[in-house]
Amino acid sequence: MKKTNKRIFFTENLLFWNATRNARTMPWKGEKDPYRIWLSEIILQQTRVEQGLEYYNRFVYQYPTVSLLAAAHENDVFKLWEGLGYYSRCRNLIASARYIAFDLGGFFPESYDEILKMKGVGPYTAAAISSFAYNLPHAVVDGNVLRVLARFFGIDTPIDSNEGKKYFTELAQSLLDKGSPSLYNQAIMDFGATVCKPQLPLCESCVLQKECDAFNTNRINELPVKEKKLKKRSRFFYYVIAEFEDKIYVRKRTEKDIWQSLFEFKLFEKEEKITAEDLLDSAELKSFAGQGFKVQSISKFYKQQLTHQSIEGVFIHIVLAAPLANDEMETIEKDRISTLAFPRFMTRFFEERQSF
Ligand code: SF4
Repeated sequence: MKKTNKRIFFTENLLFWNATRNARTMPWKGEKDPYRIWLSEIILQQTRVEQGLEYYNRFVYQYPTVSLLAAAHENDVFKLWEGLGYYSRCRNLIASARYIAFDLGGFFPESYDEILKMKGVGPYTAAAISSFAYNLPHAVVDGNVLRVLARFFGIDTPIDSNEGKKYFTELAQSLLDKGSPSLYNQAIMDFGATVCKPQLPLCESCVLQKECDAFNTNRINELPVKEKKLKKRSRFFYYVIAEFEDKIYVRKRTEKDIWQSLFEFKLFEKEEKITAEDLLDSAELKSFAGQGFKVQSISKFYKQQLTHQSIEGVFIHIVLAAPLANDEMETIEKDRISTLAFPRFMTRFFEERQSF
C-alpha cells in the first residue's frame, strides 16, 4: 500500500502523541528479553492488564528463564496459572517452552516466521515479539489497532471477515514506522487502549481528530463493524464431590477444551437447569455413587460468563458407603485438594467453602 498524506499524518501524529504522553509503566515495557515479552503477551491475551501483571510477576519470579519453565512439572505451572482462565494458553506455554529448550537448544527463535511456529502464537503475538525484542518491521494488529484504524480511516469492511483481515493487515503494515517498529507498535496499542477506547473515546483531546473519518462523519459508535455476533451457549454443571474414608474422587480432564489437564470432580452436565435434588434422585447419579451414600452439603449455584458460553453450576458433596467402581477417577486426601489445579469455576467454590 502507498503512503498517502493521510497515512503520513496518522503515523507522525501517533508518534508525536507517544513522545509527549505519560506512558503507562509496565514491567514488560522496554523489555528486550524475548522470553519475558512472550510470557507477557500470552498472559495478556484475554486478560486485563491489572490482573495479568500479578501473574506475569509470579511467572518471572518462579521461572526466570525459558529452560526453567520447560523443566517445570506441568501441574506446578497450571497451579501458578490458576485463576487466569483460558487454560489452552498455559498448555501452549509449556509446549513452546519445551520446544525451545529441547528442540532449539534453549535459543528463543529470532525471526517472525520462526516465532510463528511456536504453539499458541499467532500473527499478532509473533509481530509483538519480533518487533519488541528484535525491532523487526512487523505491525501488530489486535482489537485496539483494528478499532483505531477502522475509525480513523472510516473503514466499514467487517474486521472479522476474510476481506477485512487482509485489508487491515496490509494497512497496518503500510503505516508502521520501519525505523522504530517497537516504539510504533507500543504506541498504537496504547493509543487504542487509552484514547480511542471502545466506549467514550477521548476525541476532544485526540491528536488524530482533524483527519479522523469517524469523528468528522459522526460514526464513532458505528465503527469498527463486526460480521459475526456471538451467540452464547448455556451449560449447567452438577459437580459431585464423592468422598470415601477421607479421600475425594477427582479426575484429570483430557477433553480438548479450555480446561484440558485441570482437575475436576465427577461432572454431570445438562442442557437445561434442574435442581440438585433432581440430580440426586436420578438413575445416573445412583449408578455412579451406588447405594447408601449420604448427602453432606449442597452449594448455591455459581455462574461464570465466558466468551462463547455461560455456565451455571452447583457442588454436591456426598459420602459414599463403598468405594467407587470407576476407573477414570483417582482419589486424593481431603486436605491435599488445594495442591491440584482446578478451573476458576471451581476455585471460587473452594474459596468460599475453605475446607472439606
Ligand atoms: Fe479515535 Fe476519536 Fe481520535 Fe478518531 S478522534 S481516532 S475516534 S479518539
